[in-house]
Amino acid sequence: MSRRVVITGGASGIGARLAERFAELGDQVAICDFDSAAGAEFARSHPGIGAHVADVTNEDAMQTFLGSVEADWGGVDVVFANAGTGGPAARIEEISLSDWRACLAVNLDGAFLTCRWAARLMRAQGAGLIVLTSSTSGQWGHPHRSPYAAAKWGILGLMKTLAMELGPAGVRVNAICPGAVEGARMERMLANQSKASGRDADTIRAGYADGTSLRTWVTADDIADAAVWLASDGASKVSGQAITIDGHTETNSA
Ligand code: NAD
Repeated sequence: MSRRVVITGGASGIGARLAERFAELGDQVAICDFDSAAGAEFARSHPGIGAHVADVTNEDAMQTFLGSVEADWGGVDVVFANAGTGGPAARIEEISLSDWRACLAVNLDGAFLTCRWAARLMRAQGAGLIVLTSSTSGQWGHPHRSPYAAAKWGILGLMKTLAMELGPAGVRVNAICPGAVEGARMERMLANQSKASGRDADTIRAGYADGTSLRTWVTADDIADAAVWLASDGASKVSGQAITIDGHTETNSA
């Protein structure tokens, strides 16, 4: 049966791959992104997927996006609170309150607004799955990325609590914690790190893989594989879990 799937931050990276994968499985998919150019490009190349422009930190914009999905579908089966931003890369002494708040707003306020809507619909349905995107930074910490790490730990607290609140209503809530995922975002980060340190980007890239037991980077497909499994009957008893997909790390190598 075709599922109704919502993904925030879906115009690029992990969110886009999630959208493609669920659409390939025959599901109805709607994404939102605050980057209107990326959203337009995504809509052009994915005509079967509903692409909306909405900033996850903006309550009115999210109400418009989610309200239109609700009006079209009458409910929702799978929701990915995926939109995120890395925030400032600096020592805490150099981070302004506004940069701290901006990072928490995207990663946490956005997840709150998305989950609050999903919870209302799914509780009434007596079924559903919410998946939040955390990070290994939300498990090990991440030097020079304190707002990001704090937000991603917060995501896990939100996930655990919603799993308790919504479990009795038949709703599952889990998080995926990716390690370093190949793609535009990490390419930008490697370029920045290379510029700041004077080290070659390929050396830094190899260092990320060396920091994992499996000596590997992760792909958006690896994340999508886990997401598809979480949404399958095989995961019907899985809730309240942080699923780490990182080639195995026990600490942040940053
Ligand atoms: P990405 O930058 O490729 O994609 C993120 C998308 O979210 C972009 O399309 C961006 O425009 C959108 N977005 C950002 N702020 C938004 C906002 N306020 N409202 C709506 N959309 C917004 O990054 P990605 O790697 O695909 O990241 C997806 C998620 O995975 C994030 O939560 C990120 O923190 C998490 N994550 C990524 C990695 C990695 O290595 N790439 C590792 C761990 C966790």
